[in-house]
Amino acid sequence: APRKLAAGNWKMNGDLAAMDQIDAMLNSAEDASCDVLICPPALLIHPMVARIGAGDLLVGGQDCHAEAKGAHTGDISAEQLRDAGASHIILGHSERRADHAETDAQIRAKAAAAHRAGLVAIICLGETEAQRDGGQTLDVIAAQLDGSLPEGATAANTVIAYEPVWAIGTGRTPSTDQIAEVHALLRARLSDRLATGADVTLLYGGSVKASNAAEIFALPHVDGALVGGASLKAADFLPIIEALD
Ligand code: 13P
Repeated sequence: APRKLAAGNWKMNGDLAAMDQIDAMLNSAEDASCDVLICPPALLIHPMVARIGAGDLLVGGQDCHAEAKGAHTGDISAEQLRDAGASHIILGHSERRADHAETDAQIRAKAAAAHRAGLVAIICLGETEAQRDGGQTLDVIAAQLDGSLPEGATAANTVIAYEPVWAIGTGRTPSTDQIAEVHALLRARLSDRLATGADVTLLYGGSVKASNAAEIFALPHVDGALVGGASLKAADFLPIIEALD
């Protein structure tokens, strides 16, 4: 069965003082049977790992360069994230696809880099509101999955996150039927393509909070969440971890 994962994406939020939130999250992660991951800004990865030790709370990055090292000013490699203590990297988030014009091919290369460095790639997919209104959601998701999934992907090194662009940071979530439909498509396609496709962890992301988490986690093929705003404070994130556990 897929591993369950409660993942927090801090995006460009948080500072050294925000480490105070981490102690309570660590306690919760130690008690939980699901995996718990926080992906802070890259600057905070090492301080966070230093603070929590090699414990049950996992720490990850939000992006990486496809190369291991070299003349790429301002970029960070998967190997460097691993060296800082990361176990996972979020890749292809819609904010990176939009702000940095990342393509499926680039995301596939970055996911391969994460695997090369021994990290789990969390590959994000999602339709825009115009694509949903135009009835293109399943085609968009299938194309993004096919284009972003690298050779060598397995249930052990890859997580897929379905994040409808219009549900991110808006307080709007798809209906449970809409989430279930996309997750069923992802499971079917992954099972076709990978020997371990039935065991790939599938996350939902977009306006997940304590009040809607249990309903979303009850859906078939939803193995956890990728949480933005509600992962910044322990008081908001802990009930989501508990709903999954
Ligand atoms: P919110 O939970 O703030 O909607 O963000 C979701 C997200 O983009 C996580 O990667």
